[in-house]
Amino acid sequence: MLKALELHREAVVIDGHCDTILSVMSRGSWLGTKARDFFKRNEDGHIDLPRLVEGGITCQVMALYIEPRYKPGASARRCLELLDEFYNLVGQSEVFVMATKTQDILDAKAEGKVAGLLSIEGGEAIEGSLSVLRNFYRLGVRAMGLTWNQRNDLADGVGEKSARSGLTDLGISVAKEMEKLGMLVDVSHLSESSFWGVHEVAERPYIASHSNARALASHPRNLTDKQIEAIAEKGGVIGVVFCPPFVDDDRAKVSLSRVCAHIDHIKKVAGIDHVGLGSDFDGFGVTPGSPQVMKDVSQMPQLTEELLNRGYTEEEIKKVLGGNWLRVYKQVIG
Ligand SMILES: [Zn+2]
Repeated sequence: MLKALELHREAVVIDGHCDTILSVMSRGSWLGTKARDFFKRNEDGHIDLPRLVEGGITCQVMALYIEPRYKPGASARRCLELLDEFYNLVGQSEVFVMATKTQDILDAKAEGKVAGLLSIEGGEAIEGSLSVLRNFYRLGVRAMGLTWNQRNDLADGVGEKSARSGLTDLGISVAKEMEKLGMLVDVSHLSESSFWGVHEVAERPYIASHSNARALASHPRNLTDKQIEAIAEKGGVIGVVFCPPFVDDDRAKVSLSRVCAHIDHIKKVAGIDHVGLGSDFDGFGVTPGSPQVMKDVSQMPQLTEELLNRGYTEEEIKKVLGGNWLRVYKQVIG
């Protein structure tokens, strides 16, 4: 284990998706739990600052998830409230800092800090306005999923079964504007037709921040091999997700090793350069006693150990832990 821990501590570790902001907001989370103190070590939930440090996380991507009850009319206001919560967190801490460019993440690593990178989950947040999008960029947002599960004015989400209409004209304009600004287009919650719409217009790498391989678990949020190949073709990255239904159809088989099987699969289909981590921590609950990938983010070094045991080289492991995210950030965000 010592070798694994050493390697883990040396690596830049980036988790491409979590919903922790909602869990630490004063009004509590959409999962119904009461608000957690981000700066104290908690037993419940997945992420707080002490556990990010224990887990060796260099950069945690924090999603600004717009809950359905705010859509569509109050989406931008809600997104600004979540942003305010993030600014409150970094404002109270010397250790938790905001990243808006790749160098901020490397600096955090050098200084033993934890960086937070902002991403919007659900394009309703811009309320149809490219100006609002640009203002979110100015406030530090560096990625956006065009939809959550529903259909919106940009695209169809994965939960839309009938329309099959893909990206709207506005959705295409938004994707293009995001590339121009230096924001990552996140396809994780898109319907298949919307996914291909993004692929068609993308001139830069795009990402699936928290999705697994459909070949191993049939959940519609997971990616087909063709989608995995397409993301790789544009130079993007897929963050493997720890949420049980995405890990295995049989919940009894959910485990860390099974998540690593998704990493194996993406490596086989697309190559080692296109897989990273996107836990979705604090975006799902687990029934007590049922199998899970890991208890919380503090256990992240176990993933490094599992990859070593599976015969991954140190170089490959560093790519999966954060090197691949860094490459894409450098290319798109700067
Ligand atoms: Zn999500």
